[in-house]
Amino acid sequence: MPRPEPVRPDPQIPQAVDVAIIGGGIVGVSAAWKLAEMGVRVALFEKGEIAGEQSSRNWGYCRQQGRDPRELPLAMMSLALWRRLDHEVAGETGFREAGILYVSDDKATIAGWEDWLGHARAHGIETQLLTHREIANLLPQCARRWRAGLWTPSDGRAEPEKAAPAIARAAQRLGATLHTRTAVRGLDLAAGRIAGIVSERGAVRAQAVVLAGGASSQAFCRRHGIVLKALNVRASVLRTGPLPEVFAGGLAAPDFAIRRRLDGGYSLAAPGATTFDIVPEVLRWLADFWPAYKKEQGRMKVRLGRAFIDALVAPTHWSLDKPSPFEDEDNRVLDPRPDHGALAEAVAAFRAAFPALGEVRIVERWAGMIDATPDAIPVISEVETLPGLYLATGFSGHGFGIGPGAGRLVAELVSGRAPSVDPTPFRFARQHNARQHNARRHNARQHTAHHHNGSGGRPSGHSKHPGRLEDAPRPSPKNPDKKEPRIRRRPASDKRFLIAWPFCRRDWR
Ligand SMILES: Cc1cc2nc3c(=O)[nH]c(=O)nc-3n(C[C@H](O)[C@H](O)[C@H](O)COP(=O)(O)OP(=O)(O)OC[C@H]3O[C@@H](n4cnc5c(N)ncnc54)[C@H](O)[C@@H]3O)c2cc1C
Repeated sequence: MPRPEPVRPDPQIPQAVDVAIIGGGIVGVSAAWKLAEMGVRVALFEKGEIAGEQSSRNWGYCRQQGRDPRELPLAMMSLALWRRLDHEVAGETGFREAGILYVSDDKATIAGWEDWLGHARAHGIETQLLTHREIANLLPQCARRWRAGLWTPSDGRAEPEKAAPAIARAAQRLGATLHTRTAVRGLDLAAGRIAGIVSERGAVRAQAVVLAGGASSQAFCRRHGIVLKALNVRASVLRTGPLPEVFAGGLAAPDFAIRRRLDGGYSLAAPGATTFDIVPEVLRWLADFWPAYKKEQGRMKVRLGRAFIDALVAPTHWSLDKPSPFEDEDNRVLDPRPDHGALAEAVAAFRAAFPALGEVRIVERWAGMIDATPDAIPVISEVETLPGLYLATGFSGHGFGIGPGAGRLVAELVSGRAPSVDPTPFRFARQHNARQHNARRHNARQHTAHHHNGSGGRPSGHSKHPGRLEDAPRPSPKNPDKKEPRIRRRPASDKRFLIAWPFCRRDWR
């Protein structure tokens, strides 16, 4: 598996900070860096290592090309950050403005690119639709011909094993503290708002908490009764030994994708080699995810297996004074098994395209867990029903390139500064339909009042609607754990419970 460059953790966890960040991927470290730059006291908690999960396992594309139009301003802001990042963090992120090229023979895909060019033009991004001749000029050693290509020379590539650690070190130099192998078990709440976090090494008071937990964010939210609609998808990658340069940037064909690495090799993947394990949430959110599934159908393997039962019996609630699921050795650093068959096909396609390369030596293979939302854009937003909690998650397989910009946006939202890009498309409330919205309006009113009194100066228009808490936080005189929101327990008659009962090994609550 990839080895992100080490970052020396701070030995002591602080007693109190302004902002606690959960998750040391590129989003969490970028937020920590920007907050520290603003003079905010910030501590970051990471259950494993900095960039141990998606942020070191990805392809390394930093692109505007092909982005959902709602994400384009954030992608453009991120590219601008990437271009000066090495200088600003005084480190090597591996960023090179070497361009991203997609190629295809499929008419529908090409028609989609033609449509997308309108968005590129509207935003002033120089993207070109290439003919097969123009592709051949960019790829002179390529033996294959494709009907058309989409090419954005101002996009780039970076080194996933280097980028987040370099940003983390910069955050540390500005005064942020980083705590690795320190899982956050849950949130500390007081009077219906954030009061801090409880980690496996103790509690830390904080006025705001940023959850940038990648593939674990959904489970973390569920512990607090917050419904974050995100499902995990497994994607596989390998890296080759050193090879001659056939393309300096990122090249994605239908059957293989490569990215030139600083070490002289390539990161190589099969664009369609993603596996989706059916879990109980799939059934619950079928309608939400159906359009995304239809779009990806044929490019994704869907499996019903052990993951379903594992998810069914996994605890949904745990006491904060006992080890949480995030501390299980299996969850400390999510390290799923790569799809060897799909990777072998990608290598064969790459070799067929560039036969002059000869033998392709494979150094290692790995996989990563991608957290995907129904509309495939992230949630970067305060949770209206829990003032002080900010989500920065659900980057849906393309958060590395926009990570630095997302971190900056989070920092602006948390500190109450004017956001650099419109955060409205990333509102958490978009995940919840009108019916749920109306049902929770009462909570929203209560918390909105608190929000305006207590947090002041937040950007307007961002958090107008509530996120959904299954049960609102309500202090109970009988309950010693009175700061916790009341969690809805599954009724004993719940069919899922009955199916799972024979397999229960862990505490079910
Ligand atoms: C194979 C693959 C290829 C990809 N290719 C690209 C690409 O080319 N370009 C692109 O832009 N994006 C790509 N992506 C997506 C990109 O990697 C992610 O969107 C991005 O890294 C997400 O960053 P993050 O900080 O949100 O999450 P992560 O990097 O996953 O970090 C989340 C961190 O939170 C920690 N955490 C979770 N829960 C807790 C807790 N309770 N306590 C403490 N710590 C916790 C985890 O340990 C983890 O380190 C790819 C992803 C994969 C897997």
